[in-house]
Amino acid sequence: MQETEVGERDIHIYASTEEDSMSFHEEHSPDHEQMVEAFRNLLLLHGHLPANHGDHDTLLRFLKMRDFDLEKSKDAFLNYIKWRMDSKVDMISKRFKFEEYGEVKKHYPHGFHKVDRNGRPIYIERLGMVDLNAFMKATTIERYVKYHIKEQEKTLSLRYPACSIASAKHVSSTTTVLDVSGIGMSNFSKPARSLFMEIQKIDSNYYPETLHRLFVVNASSGFRMLWLALKTFLDARTLAKVQVLGPNYLGELLEAIDPSNLPTFLGGNCTCSDQGGCLFSDEGPWNDPKIKEKIQENYTVGDTDSEGKTKDKVPQHSLANQQKDLGKNMITLQKYANLTTAVKETQKRIEMLEMSLHETKSVLKGLVEIIEAIKPNQTEITHSQVQSGLERKTVVTKMSGLS
Ligand SMILES: [Zn+2]
Repeated sequence: MQETEVGERDIHIYASTEEDSMSFHEEHSPDHEQMVEAFRNLLLLHGHLPANHGDHDTLLRFLKMRDFDLEKSKDAFLNYIKWRMDSKVDMISKRFKFEEYGEVKKHYPHGFHKVDRNGRPIYIERLGMVDLNAFMKATTIERYVKYHIKEQEKTLSLRYPACSIASAKHVSSTTTVLDVSGIGMSNFSKPARSLFMEIQKIDSNYYPETLHRLFVVNASSGFRMLWLALKTFLDARTLAKVQVLGPNYLGELLEAIDPSNLPTFLGGNCTCSDQGGCLFSDEGPWNDPKIKEKIQENYTVGDTDSEGKTKDKVPQHSLANQQKDLGKNMITLQKYANLTTAVKETQKRIEMLEMSLHETKSVLKGLVEIIEAIKPNQTEITHSQVQSGLERKTVVTKMSGLS
């Protein structure tokens, strides 16, 4: 059942209009609600659910990441919580200042820019224009990674909620465009590799399922060689969302993005000329004051006492849910425990059946050998090997029919 759901989701990846309404309902499907609820209870039972990380979207992402296997999802989630504590993610999100932002953007053009046709934020990188030496002079990999984490946190806490309000649809993933014009094996130097690996590790382990689609455009044959190497670091779920396109990418891109939301350098109409260009503007519903106000209304603002005990920006409903629904949680938990026991018992039965089948096969094999041995005039029979094989099969079939 779970596999079918995942399959459907993947199939609909490229059917944008249909998929749009699909994914909205799917995110809130009763099955997903139940799975998220069971997952939340499992984490609560073990005391593993920090108050501000048990929201529906986060839990659903970790469930999807592990194909709805509760135990595996739990391990991935605990790994994520540990990483947040160890890396002081809340602190980075609030306090980290990336002073070199302007300088870095000049040598590594990238940024969020407006929304796709389904209201998801668009993220663009012009990798072909990266000047890695100048980039490494402007910042360090460690600082860039912190900036990346801060941006990821902003996407989850502001960009997705804002896009959801603006489009009146549930938005929880990004459409990404990478312009790799001029990129080949030679561009992938040691610092570039380190940066790629570090970012890739963080995104896949701690921000899973946030990529909706990835368009790689202007891919040369040199890039395709590099891509063969890069692919090995990406999981199958991510790879299914990637389209590597050559210079004639515009048609594909315009199916997903309205030209007014696409920068001119990618073939669209937008220049964001009053904001220093599209990749500097961070233009999108997340800058709309009215929408920001609405998002603020859904949060309570409290004090920050120390790292890891951050109390601000806690969605009210998530705290209330945890306390109010404890009784309901215990019932669901009982159901989950019963199901787990039932599955384990069935597995045991299957194992026993397999063992007895194996034994029956051995007995039959022995019987066939005996029959062969006592068959009269065996060498004089002119039947071909095939026919003799068929006869043997008939005997076995008859025998198994009897048993
Ligand atoms: Zn623009």
